[in-house]
Amino acid sequence: MVKAIVVGAAGRMGRRIVTLVHQTEGIEVAGAVERCDHPLIGTDIGGICGLGEIGVLLDDTLDACIDRGDVIIDFSHHEGALSHVTTAVAHKKAAVIGTTGLTDDEAASVRELGVGTRCVVAPNMSVGVNVMFQVLQHITAILGDDFDVEIVESHHNLKKDAPSGTAVKMADIIADELNRNMVEDGVYGRKGMVGERTKKEIGVHAVRAGDIVGEHTVIFGGIGERLEFTHRAHSRDNFVKGAIRAALWVVDRPDGVYDMQDVLGLRA
Ligand code: NAD
Repeated sequence: MVKAIVVGAAGRMGRRIVTLVHQTEGIEVAGAVERCDHPLIGTDIGGICGLGEIGVLLDDTLDACIDRGDVIIDFSHHEGALSHVTTAVAHKKAAVIGTTGLTDDEAASVRELGVGTRCVVAPNMSVGVNVMFQVLQHITAILGDDFDVEIVESHHNLKKDAPSGTAVKMADIIADELNRNMVEDGVYGRKGMVGERTKKEIGVHAVRAGDIVGEHTVIFGGIGERLEFTHRAHSRDNFVKGAIRAALWVVDRPDGVYDMQDVLGLRA
């Protein structure tokens, strides 16, 4: 039985992770962690998630419960993710990091530190999105510089970071394939007299409205035609199932930093 510690456990994703881990064979909830000032610290996480009591109280630090787990599943906040990886590495526990919005420095540090244990880092754990990452790479290689690339992502009005980690990853995949980079060629929204679109730019646009779970459309605009690829998440459970799959996969791997392409066997 794999013992999972859910970090950010009382959040929107955390509650679904606790619920589905509890309902999945071969894995169980061994710990639940929230930020230290969360009002539900000390409460049974099963009760918080509507499962009834499961005998796991919400802790205010990962250190308090790390020894009870085999793997941490982190869907919390970018400011905490690095310290959670540090704790996992120090205790030789596996880690699945789904938290997005990390700064470039934080993301680099997570990758540097993560090699000290078994670690999956993925801004989007859905199977469909990870297949789309592959498709985008192939399509971009075929279409090359002749098509203008624009990415539009839409999420609920409570999302804190923009653009989404998934849109950032899609943009990076496309930019790499076209020998461009998003620092120089990324354009994030447009307003005013911005002039004609340059051939190299890759546009990224974030919509925030209502309760949209997550949508990503990549437009390849050519002359006289365009291609559009869209992924729509209908519920958070597709990310949750991916995270649980990653947790079960990573516990027995050699130390290293992996992503969902590795978990799903999609890496060429
Ligand atoms: P949320 O705000 O509902 O939940 C985050 C929870 O983390 C909150 O309960 C908050 O109190 C807690 N938290 C904040 N700082 C913490 C800390 N230092 N230690 C422990 N807990 C802490 O947000 P959400 O919608 O559940 O999303 C959480 C994260 O997961 C976001 O970064 C989001 O973008 C990301 N996400 C990733 C995927 C994916 O597939 N990788 C999918 C959906 C969401």
